[in-house]
Amino acid sequence: MQVGDEKKQVSLDVAEDSRHEEWEAPSFVADLFAGDFNWDQIHPYPLQSAEEKKIGDDYIAKLRPILEQHIDPSEVDRTGIIPDDAIRALKDVGAFGMKIAKEYGGLGLSQTNYSRICAYISSYCASTGAWITAHQSIGVAGPLKLFGTKEQKDRYLPRIAKGAVSAFGLTEPGVGSDPAKMTTFATPTEDGKHYIVNGQKLWITNGPVAEVMILMARTPSIMKNGKEKQQITAFVFETDTPGFEVVHRCDFMGIRGIQNGLLSFKDVKIPAENIIGNPGDGLKIALITLVNGRLSIPATAGAGGKKAITYGSKWVKQREQWGAPIGKHQNTGYKVARIAAETYASEAITWMSCAFADSGKMDIRIEAAMAKYFCTEVGCQNADDFLQIRGGRGYETAESLAARGEDPVPAERFVRDARIARIVEGTSEIMRLYIAREAMDTHVRQIVPFMKPGVNKLQHFLKSFFPFYAGWLPKQFLPAKSDFKTDHLDSRNRAHLAYIARSSKRLARTMFFTMAKYGPKLEREQMIMSNFVDIGTDLFAMAATLNYADAHLATCADKQSIQDLADLFCSDARKRIETNFKAVKKNHNNKYNVVAGHAMDGKYDWWCDGTYEDVPPGYMKNFNASIKAFEAKHGEGSMAVEEELLVSK
Ligand SMILES: Cc1cc2nc3c(=O)[nH]c(=O)nc-3n(C[C@H](O)[C@H](O)[C@H](O)COP(=O)(O)OP(=O)(O)OC[C@H]3O[C@@H](n4cnc5c(N)ncnc54)[C@H](O)[C@@H]3O)c2cc1C
Repeated sequence: MQVGDEKKQVSLDVAEDSRHEEWEAPSFVADLFAGDFNWDQIHPYPLQSAEEKKIGDDYIAKLRPILEQHIDPSEVDRTGIIPDDAIRALKDVGAFGMKIAKEYGGLGLSQTNYSRICAYISSYCASTGAWITAHQSIGVAGPLKLFGTKEQKDRYLPRIAKGAVSAFGLTEPGVGSDPAKMTTFATPTEDGKHYIVNGQKLWITNGPVAEVMILMARTPSIMKNGKEKQQITAFVFETDTPGFEVVHRCDFMGIRGIQNGLLSFKDVKIPAENIIGNPGDGLKIALITLVNGRLSIPATAGAGGKKAITYGSKWVKQREQWGAPIGKHQNTGYKVARIAAETYASEAITWMSCAFADSGKMDIRIEAAMAKYFCTEVGCQNADDFLQIRGGRGYETAESLAARGEDPVPAERFVRDARIARIVEGTSEIMRLYIAREAMDTHVRQIVPFMKPGVNKLQHFLKSFFPFYAGWLPKQFLPAKSDFKTDHLDSRNRAHLAYIARSSKRLARTMFFTMAKYGPKLEREQMIMSNFVDIGTDLFAMAATLNYADAHLATCADKQSIQDLADLFCSDARKRIETNFKAVKKNHNNKYNVVAGHAMDGKYDWWCDGTYEDVPPGYMKNFNASIKAFEAKHGEGSMAVEEELLVSK
């Protein structure tokens, strides 16, 4: 094995170890990938009960005046500051304890209401939304709720519910998507009562203002089956501990009001009882917490889409060019229609996944990841299309528009604020890998025993592998069910349901034969795996959309508009699905590998000449000055990553 391959294997081992292996409840999407479209499992759509909805509505009504009184989103964007009195007012009404149980002083809201409220706050001010969600979706309360001891819950949850801000610290300058490279170490003291932590954490949202945070650090490796096994451990960390320092507050393209920073740990002493779960369980805990934790992001992306529809549809009707409202010109009207259809699908996926999370009866690891992946991709596209619809006004800031007497519609801010969602809590690329791994689990479970030392391979073949595939594979060639119970869908939309059933079997067959063709090398064919993930995601989105529409049609006054919206989304999704199926069989993926290799080897440098490729001298001067000041304060090498990158120029 070459050095690069070895490193990759370590990363893959760490990722595999952090998987939640058991499937304790049914998974709608895992079945969909295995050729089984269980419409009855999701139908009728799990809408909120009137009582539950009222809890969410009432809380939103309570928040609205607080937001309006204390927060000016434009000013937050311009100054990067959310006023202290706004944070205090939000704490006073329990907004920092929405998901914490009432027995610990929280509001005890359901996942659905929590996500609805986060979406509402973010649709008012995305920075404020990010504060609240970083605190609750990934901060200390989530992991403690699932994995904390009674003492840990008693000690921290009431404090957090009252507003002790919390954060989640995983990322480091050299560690983003690949935690195997983590260099923050927690070394146990001789008496085993404490751990001494040294290292840095980067881009930690709420980090500069947090009282407590989840700190991920490497603890001593253990030996398993003769192999060194990395241990990443989750600690609850109190930020007033000596040795902890906020060394820099980071600034970003959007959500400019968040407090996010580079944090340093120098000989920081943490009590061993602050470990959550067991040593080495850190990443597993983070991943399990993130299943539900991720659901506020798609809700927020959906809310952004709804704003784009509200503003956008008015604008394309009002603005006339070339003798007609711009919405009547097909290339622009199409954008409004697409935003509406994709946003409807985003909501359908999000609220269904939240309802499953609340019921606790389904395993939603794939659904939540798909919700995050689909809704954030669509959300960014929607924000960009909305900016385009607004033309020059889309590119102009809201403040500039207001200053010359026009509607202060912050389209450019929407784009900037939305963009981060494709990066945090798992980039879209990592989400695809995660979904692919989980989707293939049925097969991986059958294949892995053949590779494991000490397993009787013949016995596994006879007792498990053969009986499973002898039953499963022929089923994938049988005709799919074509009539599904719906209450209101018209014939076009019922036909889409039949398409999902057929395509689910086709997906299962195609995945099986592709895995057989490539074997373990499939792991390198990320574009093919993405084709599968995108097919599965679109099938899930179609099912959720049709289900949502079926429920809305019971009460909606204008039924035709809902039938048309669902039909448009499904027609678009089918087009993408067919393209993805084709791309699995016939593609030129290898050409991308070749050209990417050329680019990495610098073979296009000559041709890129003629553009200003250096760092402008002004930047360099400032950079060198800040490096000096930074390192004088924090020690040599404390800014090593950026320095290497720039000084080599
Ligand atoms: C505003 C903001 C807030 C954040 N908040 C937090 C926080 O609160 N806590 C925290 O711990 N972190 C936080 N982060 C960090 C964030 O989670 C990471 O940026 C993210 O995980 C990606 O890591 P990276 O930036 O190092 O990118 P990298 O991992 O270096 O990835 C760079 C690119 O390569 C792609 N890539 C990486 N690996 C693969 C692969 N195997 N296959 C294909 N493509 C790949 C990625 O998708 C990405 O496009 C925040 C970041 C920002 C910008």
